[in-house]
Amino acid sequence: MIDTLQIKVTETSNPRLAETEFKDIPFGKIFTDHMFMADFEDGEWKNLQILPYGPIPMSPAISALHYGQAIFEGMKAYRLPNGDISVFRANKNFERFNISADRIAMPTIPEEIFMQAISALINIDKGWVPTQENYSLYLRPVMFATDSSLGVRASDTYKFVLLATPTGPYYTKALKVKIETKYTRANEGGVGYAKTAGNYARSLYPFAEAQKEGFDQLIWTDSATHTLVEESGAANVMFVLDGKLITAAVSETILNGVTRDTIIALAKDKGITVEERKVTVAEIIEGAKNGKLTEAFAVGTAATVTQIGEIGYEGELYKLSDASTRTVSTSLAKELNDIRNGLAEDRFGWNW
Ligand code: PMP
Repeated sequence: MIDTLQIKVTETSNPRLAETEFKDIPFGKIFTDHMFMADFEDGEWKNLQILPYGPIPMSPAISALHYGQAIFEGMKAYRLPNGDISVFRANKNFERFNISADRIAMPTIPEEIFMQAISALINIDKGWVPTQENYSLYLRPVMFATDSSLGVRASDTYKFVLLATPTGPYYTKALKVKIETKYTRANEGGVGYAKTAGNYARSLYPFAEAQKEGFDQLIWTDSATHTLVEESGAANVMFVLDGKLITAAVSETILNGVTRDTIIALAKDKGITVEERKVTVAEIIEGAKNGKLTEAFAVGTAATVTQIGEIGYEGELYKLSDASTRTVSTSLAKELNDIRNGLAEDRFGWNW
């Protein structure tokens, strides 16, 4: 770790940790006492600082607000049994952050700034890393365009901010998901593989419509034919079909999930056959009918492994096996949890 960056530190005079109740904490609403911030100006990153979490004064004309030039990431820090703190595969989030930045014409951020922002923020707010089982500190880097200008063009200035929020278990029950055949999350030539704000904005209306129909989440299909399964909500989606672990290959329309990559590595290591390929809606529905689809689940940082209990498609509802019978996903999820919580050997070197 390079330790040469000058980071100005302004400590809060009003710490909130002691009064914060972690049990049943809502996702992403309570932030730690501090945040990290840096500015991109005149072609370079400057003003690296840790400061109290809170509002930042900005012009209402900043181009991020008008044209959506904004990207983000999500990763988690865990408390290990010896009290140390580990961040899970932060280098992958760093790489993806810059892939996203590049796609929407933003400057990339140097690795040492990204990584030292994480260590500096965790260092000052280490008391916020939960000790309870299934809890962690969610880290949210965000970069957005700050030119105060209504011209439609890439901004010259940007802000990078790192926030941290303690988080507990996400979904607790198996989800009822709808295979979406009208709206899409991503399309060829688009920005689906980047973690840009607009991808999430466009998902909100279809999600709300599905919720009105009684679903918890969506399975996105390809924009051209609606016959290929892509992702589920803001997570990748996996299936156990005929004993094999199947998931959509990463492409221009699919976010290259860190949890996806991790689960695939763990599955291969266990000798499970993994297929990363085009996954058709037809084979999933067929498998649900004939019983060969034994497991379906979403994988992502926020949700880890979330079971899918029912799949809705073209007005029909397909009930899948009881989540308690699912040995593949539950054993992979346990192994992943054990590694990141320091309860199993970190044999892939994922904990930083
Ligand atoms: N797909 C989308 C659209 C997402 O927003 C996320 C969450 N980052 C994922 C997949 C899962 O990625 P990861 O495992 O890296 O969190």
